[in-house]
Amino acid sequence: MDAIAVKREKTRPERIDIERPEPDEGEVLVRTLRVGIDGTDFEVLSGSHGEFPEGSDYQILGHEAVGVVESSNGTALNEGEIVVPTVRRPANTSSRFFENNEPDMAPPGEYVERGIAGAHGYMAEYFTTPESFLVSIPESLADVGFLVEPISNVEKALELAQRSRSTFEWQNSAGLVLGNGPLGLLTLAMLADRCERTYCLGRRERPDPTIDIIEELGATYINSRQTAVDEIPAVHEPMDLVFEATGHAKHAFSTVEALGANGVGVLLGIPEDWEFTVNGGALHRQLVLQNKALLGSVNSNVRHYKRARNTLAEYPDWFLASIMTTQCSVSEFADAFEESPDTIKSYIEFST
Ligand code: NAP
Ligand code: BGC
Ligand code: ZN
Repeated sequence: MDAIAVKREKTRPERIDIERPEPDEGEVLVRTLRVGIDGTDFEVLSGSHGEFPEGSDYQILGHEAVGVVESSNGTALNEGEIVVPTVRRPANTSSRFFENNEPDMAPPGEYVERGIAGAHGYMAEYFTTPESFLVSIPESLADVGFLVEPISNVEKALELAQRSRSTFEWQNSAGLVLGNGPLGLLTLAMLADRCERTYCLGRRERPDPTIDIIEELGATYINSRQTAVDEIPAVHEPMDLVFEATGHAKHAFSTVEALGANGVGVLLGIPEDWEFTVNGGALHRQLVLQNKALLGSVNSNVRHYKRARNTLAEYPDWFLASIMTTQCSVSEFADAFEESPDTIKSYIEFST
């Protein structure tokens, strides 16, 4: 069967031919429908994040997938059911986090991530996985189901942020998303109902499709070349909630400056090493004297996938249509990895 993989020492994806997997006991065989591409896939290709499966000279890419149950193999799932696989699987060690269905909280060493770190991904015509790592979605969401995974990461981050503000009456009036990539836009669309005023920061000039989407969502676009993150409170207003989805390491620190008193910033981007100077005293003082919180968040568990499934169903059709810019067949796979100002979300269609 066809699969899209990156080989060791290479940074470009390749089409490879591998054997169709056979499900073990308790595993389901899934026929892949669509697999999305995000910033993390580019980090995997460049070698800055993730690792190859042990003993393999290639890594099958892809962690945002939707498929259809081809063989339920004696599990409770039904053949023909539309499913989304989770990303983390246990490493060769016991983990109380996997036992508690909280793989997203497992520390490094206790997990592998399919398509990212130590395990093959979903960019293949078929994949197998234990039933407990599949979330069913309605057939009506089959075409957009690969977005459940990225949305689930935002659901988890939002839950962490809200819980950190749950000991007092937190007013979440002003929300800011840093980044106008796919993750940033999916987050912004989710915040539209949760904050009275929303803002999204990018570094693009007009005309640009992402700026149009930001404004159509009722948010204010902030060009980081004109207004730096730490200037946002003076130019616009102090924020109650900031979501970082740029991977730009300085934003982790300027997020503290963008927050108002009692605000919470949640970091999702995955930067490379970068040394720079910060005023640590000022940041520390603000966090303490203004009860600010700064959180990191990674991955998600089945609870978040189920919430993401509901959120996805509520997104307006125009929004989904405008972010799903680039559909590629398996033979056009290389185009799915081309970056351009008009590309927001690319995905490969393996079958229909
Ligand atoms: P992406 O496609 O790389 O998008 C990043 C966006 O941020 C781009 O639109 C980029 O603008 C913008 N940006 C970067 N630096 C900026 C700056 N200095 N000022 C203003 N805008 C800037 O990535 P993505 O798929 O949306 O994901 C975002 C990040 O989250 C990535 O690092 C990804 O690995 C990470 N991630 C983490 C999780 C998690 O669970 N923690 C989940 C999914 C993704 P241009 O397009 O104009 O360059
Ligand atoms: C994936 C997450 C993963 C994270 C770190 C994200 O792009 O969507 O599932 O945990 O990268 O590797
Ligand atoms: Zn991802």
